[in-house]
Amino acid sequence: MSDNKKCKACSASVRLQDKDVQRMIDAIKKNKSFKLASEELYNSRLEKCSDCEHLEYDTTCMQCGCIVQVRALLKDKRCPISGKW
Ligand code: SF4
Repeated sequence: MSDNKKCKACSASVRLQDKDVQRMIDAIKKNKSFKLASEELYNSRLEKCSDCEHLEYDTTCMQCGCIVQVRALLKDKRCPISGKW
């Protein structure tokens, strides 16, 4: 399968590069209005995502469409599947 996968509904690429994810993380960390998860909680959440059958492209939750590296960083967010995190 090509690395240039495109969204079926539009022409945007569905695969984010590490630098794109990092840019989102940096923007959230700079914005003091967000409550952030501790590093331990963040890593624990991402570990569960990495073992999850709903994770695609190492970044995207197919249950809610979020970028898990971003969602896991936000303290008050939860996994859309009850009980995962
Ligand atoms: S947020 Fe939940 S459902 Fe989505 S990939 Fe992570 S563990 Fe799976």
